[in-house]
Amino acid sequence: MTSIASSTGRRANGARLAGESSKLLPANVRQLHRSLVLQELYKKDPASRADLARATGLTRVTVSDVVNDLIDRELVEEIGPRPGTRVGKPATLVTVKYEAHNIICLELSDETELRGAVLSLGGEILSRDSVQLEGQRGEAAVAKVISLARSLVEKANAPIIGIGVGTPGVVNAHGVVRNAPNLGWRDLNLTAAITAALELPAYVANDADTAVLAENTFGEGDGAGLMMVQISHGVGAGILCDGNLLRGAEGTAGEIGHVKISDENVPCPCGRTGCLEAFVATPRLRARINGKDAAQTAQELTIAGQQLGQVLAPITQALGLYDVVLFGPTELLDGEFLKAAEETVNTTTSHFSDRPVVLRMSALGRDGVLFGAAAHVLGGELGLS
Ligand SMILES: [Zn+2]
Repeated sequence: MTSIASSTGRRANGARLAGESSKLLPANVRQLHRSLVLQELYKKDPASRADLARATGLTRVTVSDVVNDLIDRELVEEIGPRPGTRVGKPATLVTVKYEAHNIICLELSDETELRGAVLSLGGEILSRDSVQLEGQRGEAAVAKVISLARSLVEKANAPIIGIGVGTPGVVNAHGVVRNAPNLGWRDLNLTAAITAALELPAYVANDADTAVLAENTFGEGDGAGLMMVQISHGVGAGILCDGNLLRGAEGTAGEIGHVKISDENVPCPCGRTGCLEAFVATPRLRARINGKDAAQTAQELTIAGQQLGQVLAPITQALGLYDVVLFGPTELLDGEFLKAAEETVNTTTSHFSDRPVVLRMSALGRDGVLFGAAAHVLGGELGLS
């Protein structure tokens, strides 16, 4: 199938990445209008064309054109009049046709297994698949990714709007993996490789950046300011600020794992010592509490939480962030660790606001990266945020 977004209007890799701008060509204007209308309907109550005109500020004629176009594309459907309407000619309500298209999502974060799923437009997981990495790196690892994507495409039960991928490593705004040491990738255009193999639009982003998009689209996030800290084999963060995903000049924004927090000679995979990651990555946290009783475990996790808080504090202060979400194993993070990190952030900063910085666990659990990959596709193809 062809891409739903117009070929002239679709951006290279996602709709909400900072630093991009779009020229208002007629096709872009149409696409913008489509996005405005879809945004008012997505995960919201059904609405009439008049409701949509009021909410978007577009004229009724424009809204009718856009809605008819969206119905033709099977993105929106009419569901009849509002219940209980009795006076005059009742307005027909429209809603997003969530089941009429699928999104393919892949998560490459795990060291041994690549995971994927087929999702509906509404973010419902329809089927899953995975493939063992078997230690493959470089081109062989790319082949594993493509074989997983192909198997998911075969499982789809509706036209696919795109393929989203969350990968570890540094990824630039065009979906080129600059550096992913665990997969042996350097300057790999994974987006182009997937698009060429499967003839579908592909969106590749860093896994933590992907997870922060998920929290914003499917979780409880507020795009005005949200930081997602992913704690797994490594430690990284995705940051949404003023509605934009922060990337930085080299695509490395949010790489907080290698901030030095201690003079202790604790080695880090990056080759240095005393990095945050060397203290709070999940293998390290498990080692720190191994063989300890409940009280000692609580104390150790409190110290670890303080170490994380020490790095998060200046970031929240500088960027004016109040909402920090942790993403990782709840049995380690959701307790003393979270509490201590939150307390450290709030006692070592002054936000000049009555609102405290809140640290919480992600509502999306282990599938955060998959949901984020879907959010990335929805943003790029349909302009949803
Ligand atoms: Zn390091």
